[in-house]
Amino acid sequence: PIALWWIRRDLRLHDNQALAEAMRLARTVIPVFVLDPALLSSASQSRRRTQFLFASLACLDRDLRSRGSKLIVRSGTPVEVLERLACEVGARWVVAEADYSPYALRRDRAVAQRVDLRLCPGLTLQDPRELRAPSGRPYTVFTAFARSWWQRPAPQLDAVIPPPARLPPVEDVSSERIVAELDAFPVHVFPPGEAEARARLDAFVSGSDPPIFRYASERNRLDGAGSSRLSPYLRFGMVSVREAWCRASQLLERAPDEASRAGVRAWLNELVWREFYITLLYSFPRMVRESLRPEYREIEWDDAGDALAAWYRGQTGYPAVDAAMRQLAAEGWISNRARMLVASFLVKDLLLDWRLGERWFFQQLIDGDPAANSGGWQWSAGTGTDAAPYFRVFNPTKQGERYDPGGRWVRKWVPELCHVPDEFIHRPWAMPRAVQERCGCRIGREYPSPIVDHAVARQRAIARYRAARSAA
Ligand code: FAD
Repeated sequence: PIALWWIRRDLRLHDNQALAEAMRLARTVIPVFVLDPALLSSASQSRRRTQFLFASLACLDRDLRSRGSKLIVRSGTPVEVLERLACEVGARWVVAEADYSPYALRRDRAVAQRVDLRLCPGLTLQDPRELRAPSGRPYTVFTAFARSWWQRPAPQLDAVIPPPARLPPVEDVSSERIVAELDAFPVHVFPPGEAEARARLDAFVSGSDPPIFRYASERNRLDGAGSSRLSPYLRFGMVSVREAWCRASQLLERAPDEASRAGVRAWLNELVWREFYITLLYSFPRMVRESLRPEYREIEWDDAGDALAAWYRGQTGYPAVDAAMRQLAAEGWISNRARMLVASFLVKDLLLDWRLGERWFFQQLIDGDPAANSGGWQWSAGTGTDAAPYFRVFNPTKQGERYDPGGRWVRKWVPELCHVPDEFIHRPWAMPRAVQERCGCRIGREYPSPIVDHAVARQRAIARYRAARSAA
């Protein structure tokens, strides 16, 4: 018997439950990737993310060939491609890793009507369909979700599946060529493929003093140097979240002190956030389109215009915001702290609809993911699941001073500010004229003056949110 292993968000050979199931069912397993026009040509698709995906598919094909197999790539709607291919090669099953986004659920329902589709776990550690409050309703607050999440059996390292040493040959099946134009994304920042993903995980959790031990204190650095930078690889499943979890949680016993243990726990907690948003999107498919909290659906947003353009281009006059937006445009990735900061700025300081920012992020981010992105935006806008009150507004100056002290990161991304003295690096508008002249950065000339006054904007945002609440 023959099975198709339909690869979607699991571009890996290590710990792949769908691949293992396909090999259990059938003697011949044909790895297939479908170039789905509904995904590849959608308005919010990102060329950079597609290129990262294509380059990683090329890596997967190499890894498969080194084990005697190869990747088959076909374009078309998954229903048609899979039905035709199954018929062509005589496959009895199509095996895939389950995915819970609204589009994936629709697509898989349609495919299951035409072929014998077997879905396996692997995208998450716990099944999103099972994580419900005792009332039967989905969790909407992270702390309650996490509490119940931790009560479930923990994933075990000995369950992690090793990669197959050999795979059955795939003969006489035609495949399209994947063309990866590598200039579209910064290969030096995020090299594609499973080997790179594994090297990153290793670098983060192994050795006598792994970076994960310092995660609790370093994770908020605006330059992102304190976190794993695994998100693009977890996004496409180049590393299994189960393996990442098990390797990290093992360190809880080995950690030399409480600070290191706190680092490991904080990192594991982020993986639970990942599960939370996947589960939330499964329960509330409309969260990509509308505020989860009904009272904020009618907020009166300002009209997008010059302010939105200044935000896109990193020309707001707030150095930390501008550095983040320019890094995002250049590398397709910014730290979590930088994401929260620019999101808060767009929504609260500029009073622009969070969906404008969500869409921009989705087009720019290599790790762009509908669950984490809409979850993160709604958290920042205060329209989602966050327990924090609506009047929390990030102060872009203080955030910069706290998480990029000395301004090294800002200077890298906003070179106009390169020679600005440390004391003014996060508030350059406060520089006396003579200092501006001396450091070659005149405000309003080489670098813009702030497009809003944060103190005033904060009050305006609070009033607007309060009005929406009382109208609801
Ligand atoms: P680490 O800190 O090393 O964390 C490990 C992994 O946990 C990450 O790779 C990621 O898979 C997961 N994770 C960490 N934090 C979160 C979180 N808050 N929510 C969900 N998963 C998390 N993450 C995405 O993967 N895709 C997105 O499109 C995305 N959009 C975001 C938008 C906004 C406005 C905000 C505030 C956050 C967003 N995040 C998104 C979450 C988070 O910022 C990134 O996952 C993280 O910065 C990636 O860096 P890292 O791999 O070094 O993370």
